[in-house]
Amino acid sequence: MNCIFCDIINRKANAEILFENEKVLAFLDVRPVNYGHTLVIPKTHSENFLSVCKEDLLELIRITQMISGAITKSINPDGFNIVTNNGTAAGQSVFHFHFHIIPRFNNDAFSFKPNLKSYSNGTMREFADKIRAKIF
Ligand SMILES: [Zn+2]
Repeated sequence: MNCIFCDIINRKANAEILFENEKVLAFLDVRPVNYGHTLVIPKTHSENFLSVCKEDLLELIRITQMISGAITKSINPDGFNIVTNNGTAAGQSVFHFHFHIIPRFNNDAFSFKPNLKSYSNGTMREFADKIRAKIF
């Protein structure tokens, strides 16, 4: 299996690593939205948010908070986004689960450009019922 993030974990590919422990690795994205843009990944290969194991996910969240704090104290952004893209339609390009930490600055060029919809009569309940039926 070809995975650039596994290669970084195994030191077969270079990365500017910020932090590492037994479960998690954090490194700078080589194509940042803003400088300091960081990726936080589990060391065990997992494709996406749904398949990553719960223990790894808890550690990923903990380390993502820690690194976000370090970015905030060092780079002093006006804010930051925590993002995870799941599936090609959502912009996922490396299929090894990762959180993005994106430092944000007032008036930077980055935008999610939302085109917000409205629910028509009754459809909000229908969507909610469909989702609730799959929560367990
Ligand atoms: Zn991988």
